[in-house]
Amino acid sequence: MRIDIVTTFPEMFAPLGTSILGKAQERGLIEIRFFNPRDYSKDPHRKTDDVQYGGSEGMVMTAPPLLESVEAAIGGEGKGTSRLILTSPQGRLFDQPMAVELSRCPHLILVCGHYKGVDERFIDLLQPEEISIGDYVLTGGELPAMVIADAVARLLPNVVGGYASVEEDSFGEGLLDCPRYTRPRSVRGLEVPDVLLSGNHSKIAAWRKRMAIEATRRKRPDLLAKYEEIR
Ligand code: SAM
Repeated sequence: MRIDIVTTFPEMFAPLGTSILGKAQERGLIEIRFFNPRDYSKDPHRKTDDVQYGGSEGMVMTAPPLLESVEAAIGGEGKGTSRLILTSPQGRLFDQPMAVELSRCPHLILVCGHYKGVDERFIDLLQPEEISIGDYVLTGGELPAMVIADAVARLLPNVVGGYASVEEDSFGEGLLDCPRYTRPRSVRGLEVPDVLLSGNHSKIAAWRKRMAIEATRRKRPDLLAKYEEIR
């Protein structure tokens, strides 16, 4: 999968080059590229924002450098199977089913707004899907783009140690994950549950399912209600 990020602050994306996503890029499982609207600005100072028509506080990102950045990311072949996403607090709320849906797409373009947002004509002309990572307002789309890229990339085959492992995580089957334990066996008097040391895989699977249901009931009863409705 290729993920192209349109941002005037590419230096904010260092986290994507480390840990699991860093390794996934080294192994060629994902490619992440950056397109900086400043490189497409006609302004002598490479400006990519301007004051608002009609007045009011706050700069707005100008449309032409954003349009050209997206066109460069799309390349000569046209939009085809690319999904163009504008990070926006006004968008559809990002969740795990959306991450799964996006992980099936070979090419994502994530556009990061800043300041007061982007000139509306960028939206009118390219009709991006608007995606929000929550009902709050951040200073820019860089953190949302990283959240989306991370949640999507970890679902790709072989990025995380095996697809089964990501399916077992919270939301994979509509439940939260069960409690997990590692060495040492005893921590300040608290022991690992016996069943996990039993070597009996079907008993372990049944225990994990029970605990996942219990965790969901306690922490997210809304999810449990949905899970029971579709079963
Ligand atoms: N004036 C805009 C509004 O009220 O809808 C907010 C602009 S915000 C300060 C600047 C940029 O940050 C947005 O263009 C968007 O790219 C990004 N952003 C802020 N909050 C976000 C959120 N919850 N989800 C996704 N992107 C967000």
